[in-house]
Amino acid sequence: MKKVISILLVFVLACLCAAPALAVTDTTAALTLSADKTTVSANEIVTITVSVSENSKLGALEFSVDFDRSAFQYVDGSYTQDSLWASTVNPNHANGLYYSAATASFITQGGTLVTFQLRALKPGSELTLSVIQATDGTTLDGEDVTQQVVANSTDSLKIACSHAGTMTETEYTAPTCTQGGERIYTCSVCGETSIEKIPASGHSFGSWEQTSAPTCTQDGVETRICSVCNATETRALTATGHDYTAVITAPTCTEQGYTTHTCSLCGDSYTDEYKAALGHNYTAVVTAPTCTKDGFTTYTCTTCGDSYIDSIVPAMGHTAGEWAVTKEPTHTETGLRTQSCKICGEVLAAEEIDVLTGLVGDVNEDGVVNAIDARWTLQTVADLRALRYSTLADVNGDGTVSVVDARWILQAVAGLRTL
Ligand SMILES: [Zn+2]
Ligand SMILES: [Zn+2]
Ligand SMILES: [Zn+2]
Ligand SMILES: [Zn+2]
Ligand SMILES: [Zn+2]
Repeated sequence: MKKVISILLVFVLACLCAAPALAVTDTTAALTLSADKTTVSANEIVTITVSVSENSKLGALEFSVDFDRSAFQYVDGSYTQDSLWASTVNPNHANGLYYSAATASFITQGGTLVTFQLRALKPGSELTLSVIQATDGTTLDGEDVTQQVVANSTDSLKIACSHAGTMTETEYTAPTCTQGGERIYTCSVCGETSIEKIPASGHSFGSWEQTSAPTCTQDGVETRICSVCNATETRALTATGHDYTAVITAPTCTEQGYTTHTCSLCGDSYTDEYKAALGHNYTAVVTAPTCTKDGFTTYTCTTCGDSYIDSIVPAMGHTAGEWAVTKEPTHTETGLRTQSCKICGEVLAAEEIDVLTGLVGDVNEDGVVNAIDARWTLQTVADLRALRYSTLADVNGDGTVSVVDARWILQAVAGLRTL
């Protein structure tokens, strides 16, 4: 029966093609694909509808809906326009699901032309509607027109996979401290994948440990280590700065004073606050010159004891005095005559005095010993006379001139004693 209709349709179409064209134009109609659901799971049935927009005035129509046969399987379908008087469906046409139809009157109502069901085998692919031919056909009153009456030649529709309960994890990359991981889910029906990003876990740092101590002038370093990946992180420990204490050195007569600042931590030091040297505070003491030594002035600093000498006055030299007998000669021993300095008493010259050669007892040295010599002796004892040598009168040789000597001289003169 279907075959008869097809032959008839082809005949009708051939007549339409042969008929002279007449300018009856309606290009506002369009064939569209729609579905009762946009996502489906495996083996789910989806109903596809081919609609025509209103005011189409179609007489004959030929179109196909093509799809991936491994993705969808044709189940059933039907025309819904009751005005059709001939139609055919070939689910296994080379162009896909093939429809052709012709009507004695015109299809002037918009709406559903065809519905059919597809079983989703591997959803996610596209259905494509291709309008092969659409004409307004031959009117019953004999008016022949062959005119394309739909505006579109194709339409398409995507029936996606719902992935309902079919996404399973197929790959897992663990996150590290610094790099994110991911889970890849794959749909067991359509093979589509989705990626779930896992953020990096971040380091698990331990506590900060001092790895380099700060000094007065240089920063130290603190380090912490990730217990997971051993990554290290460092940060600076600020230099402590110097801890100076000041010691004052007072100025002296000759050296300037200053303050020494020394760091108790590192020993670094510097000086400042300089004070000028005080200078000496001299007092003068004059030492007079002597016969043999120069005179001078001694300046001594009362603060530090430093001293120096100047204002030298030459030595005066000796001043010779009178010669004087310093040891009288005797008849047995020589005497001594000296000349000394009047100022210092130093002996400047000396000469020996010969032993006495005159008679013993000749006190007045007149060549004879007589009573006059005794008298001169008594006068010497009485400090009434100064002899050239008093030893002339010390006839008994006891070291002094006395009345005993005068008596000895008188006894000698009287022949009672020998001197
Ligand atoms: Zn899927
Ligand atoms: Zn780490
Ligand atoms: Zn320091
Ligand atoms: Zn001084
Ligand atoms: Zn002198």
